[in-house]
Amino acid sequence: MITIKHLSKRFVTPDGKDLQVLKDVNCVINRGEVISIIGPSGTGKSTFLRAINLLDPPTGGEIIFDGENILAKGYPLNKLRQKMGMVFQSFNLFEHMSILDNVTFAPMKLRGLTRAQAEEEARVLLRKVGMAEKAAAMPSDLSGGQKQRVAIARCLAMHPEVILFDEPTSALDPTMVGEVLSVMRQLAAEGMTMLIVTHEMRFARDVSTRIFFMNEGVIYEDGTPQQIFENPVHSATKQFVQRIHKLVFEVDGPDFDMLDVHSQIAAFCNKYNIADKRDAADRIIDTMSTTVAATLHPYTLRFTYGEQADITAIDYMKEGSLQSFLATADTTVREALTSLCREIVEEPTSRGFRVKFIL
Ligand code: ADP
Ligand code: MG
Repeated sequence: MITIKHLSKRFVTPDGKDLQVLKDVNCVINRGEVISIIGPSGTGKSTFLRAINLLDPPTGGEIIFDGENILAKGYPLNKLRQKMGMVFQSFNLFEHMSILDNVTFAPMKLRGLTRAQAEEEARVLLRKVGMAEKAAAMPSDLSGGQKQRVAIARCLAMHPEVILFDEPTSALDPTMVGEVLSVMRQLAAEGMTMLIVTHEMRFARDVSTRIFFMNEGVIYEDGTPQQIFENPVHSATKQFVQRIHKLVFEVDGPDFDMLDVHSQIAAFCNKYNIADKRDAADRIIDTMSTTVAATLHPYTLRFTYGEQADITAIDYMKEGSLQSFLATADTTVREALTSLCREIVEEPTSRGFRVKFIL
């Protein structure tokens, strides 16, 4: 249905700098697919959707929609607007119009329906999204979840072939997220082609036929929900889906500021609500610093927390080393370390040897 080749988008910032936000995006979207686009913020997900529907035309590449190049001169924008719907984070309802008028406006203008025809269709659509009773209300009378459901009905009123959603639930109170997702779930089940930028991982996993993990202006990884969530190929994908947060210190010599390491760990533990791990972390690092690690420089010290799996760990990596530097430690040191964590994992990696303390 849509083929995107070498799509790029550059912005020139106010201070004259060139910002390459989309680098080389390539994908094929088939009819009936539900594709969730996930990825860290600022990686170009919104820019991608806005480029596809020409709200913010791309600076390079091709978009072929139903066999036609929509970037070609003279391609009618009205036709695109009709075939491709868009739902925004901020609803974008016409605030001065009733709910019914919000839904009938575009079909009357662009599809040439009479008011009676448009209203009849609008009522059916409002019922579908559970908003029939609010037809006469004004947008300001509605909750965020209700507004978003109306926005979806308004979009459906154009009979689009595909709908792009840009974080449709991010502006909502958590209690209202479910009602919007359930409308979207229903559309997906009916076979609507959808492209959804979302942070709702459970939803993305359940309803999508495919997931695009966007990172640094490209589709970094593309796969089924199972591939992306359970078997990601790239470590950036893994870090994102497992919500792994980390602190990394390159400890280059004995003068390295270890007090700063402790205070960064304290702040990190507070931020992610794992303050109960802090004491053990401090003691492991102190024990290591005065024994095994004292002669290990340079080494990499990492403190990681995987939110998904709820695992906190400290690891020491000695580049180029093939065997465990813990093996030569005194038994008393080893026992002290063992008593401070749940498990010690000693493993060779492609970079060097890693000793990991799982807290
Ligand atoms: P995401 O939706 O993944 O969070 P965006 O697509 O909104 O990311 O933004 C990606 C990058 O592009 C950001 O660094 C943002 O500041 C920049 N950007 C987006 N729109 C514009 C614009 N109109 N002018 C300049 N820079 C922009
Ligand atoms: Mg965005």
